[in-house]
Amino acid sequence: MNQPRPRAVGIDLGTTFSAVACLDDLGRPQTLNNGEGDKLTPSVVFFEESEIVVGKEAVKAISTAAAQVAECAKRDLGNRMYEKVLGGRQYPPEALEAWVLNKLRIDAEHQIGAFDKVVITVPAYFDEVRRKATQDAGYMAGFDVMDIINEPTAAAIAFGFQQGGEHAIAAADGMCRILVYDLGGGTFDVTVMEISRDQFVTLATDGDVRLGGRDWDQRLVDYVAEEFIRRCGVDPREDPNTEGRLWRECEDTKRTLSARSKANVACDYKGQAVRLEITRQMFEEMTRDLLDRTAFTTRQTLQAAGLQWSDIDRVLLVGGSTRMPAVCEMLQSITGKELDRSVSPDEAVAHGAAIHAGLLLERHHGQAPRVTIKNVNSHSLGVVARDSATQRQRNAILIPRNTSLPVAAKRIFKTHKASQKSILVQIVEGESASPDDCSQIGKCSVRELPPGLPADTPIEVGFRYAENGRLTVTVSCAGKELCHEIQRDNSLTQEQLASWRQYISGR
Ligand code: AMP
Repeated sequence: MNQPRPRAVGIDLGTTFSAVACLDDLGRPQTLNNGEGDKLTPSVVFFEESEIVVGKEAVKAISTAAAQVAECAKRDLGNRMYEKVLGGRQYPPEALEAWVLNKLRIDAEHQIGAFDKVVITVPAYFDEVRRKATQDAGYMAGFDVMDIINEPTAAAIAFGFQQGGEHAIAAADGMCRILVYDLGGGTFDVTVMEISRDQFVTLATDGDVRLGGRDWDQRLVDYVAEEFIRRCGVDPREDPNTEGRLWRECEDTKRTLSARSKANVACDYKGQAVRLEITRQMFEEMTRDLLDRTAFTTRQTLQAAGLQWSDIDRVLLVGGSTRMPAVCEMLQSITGKELDRSVSPDEAVAHGAAIHAGLLLERHHGQAPRVTIKNVNSHSLGVVARDSATQRQRNAILIPRNTSLPVAAKRIFKTHKASQKSILVQIVEGESASPDDCSQIGKCSVRELPPGLPADTPIEVGFRYAENGRLTVTVSCAGKELCHEIQRDNSLTQEQLASWRQYISGR
């Protein structure tokens, strides 16, 4: 008997909010509501004594039990531990992300039945370590992560799908060049792509994994707190619960300021209360430098793609923070173009992920691929080498950023002395010449080189980025593979992952 084909499910795992979409019977993406009936689930985890609560209820706890609440764990991916101690212990950030994903899975299963195959999105600017951590979080939540896909690429796919194909979106040469400006809760990405009905090709990407709506909130929080100190002599941020309430108030005020020219924010602490009127102009002035950073990166990305503004057909806005009027004004002024708001900024990424999941499932069932997706690497890949002139360690770049994926590179290392027993290759991502300023991916070490090798024996180290930005490394000598594993400092072992999976998802 034929097995029913698995549902195509895509997940936008956001810093502040997450969303799940699934293809309906006609192959159209639909956002699934969570257990509370909302399309967006706050990516917040509350450790309530023996229970772990995720989403809206966890957000409420920020005002009363802030010390037990984990927010923005996505920003800590790639670190060994999440910054905060929760319920007496520290957790790896991917475990906190896994709890968010687990809630999304349980809620989605109530609507579409059991499933495990998913595509999860990541910021285009995520480095390899964060990409792996996201895949690991998916595994720990009980999923079979078929792929990870860049958020702007997913948004572009949703856009292409919605426009109904080539005739609607393509310029005269059959291609449409789009710039995707994606400002979410915690990350910023800008990506230039060429798209047609069946091809999504990234030309250049740049961004900041620590810049998003949250930073705009922080400015308001700090402004109100400073004003409170000036008037009342105490800092409301010294108490975590008061600070938590203030954050919620400020985020709400920020949203109001997207629709109105002024809003009020209230703060009370230690029996004293302050109510402030904030105008949109004040808010824009206190956050101008954040916006300028995104403008700078946007111009740079266009340049990296080798294009002018006149080459861009559409500017696509993605991410909840693009609702701020200042974002549109800035983009209109630097691009000289009308902005495209045709995709829902909150749902486009999840929709694109679901469409990608559908295409992957078709391919698993032997159907010819209908769409080609081509990405670039967002960070240069290098190895740590010793500069012969200065004897200092430096980053020897092997694959420069914005190289089309998949891509392979190799480097020959030579043994220094006869009968050398081991070699060590340290792998980094980043643009800096100093390895200390780069992201440390890990090491590839061979401890048992074949015995009796003469000095200067070539050892070949091969690097390969897959389409989704994940890296594999192989070390070989005289055509024989000696090693294909990267030892990662900040990553969980397979046994740890399996045990977290059992603990979090029961699978
Ligand atoms: P996303 O990660 O795309 O869901 O974006 C979430 C971010 O968008 C959060 O920082 C929200 O505060 C922000 N956001 C959502 N709606 C608005 C709005 N109307 N005005 C300003 N920011 C918003």
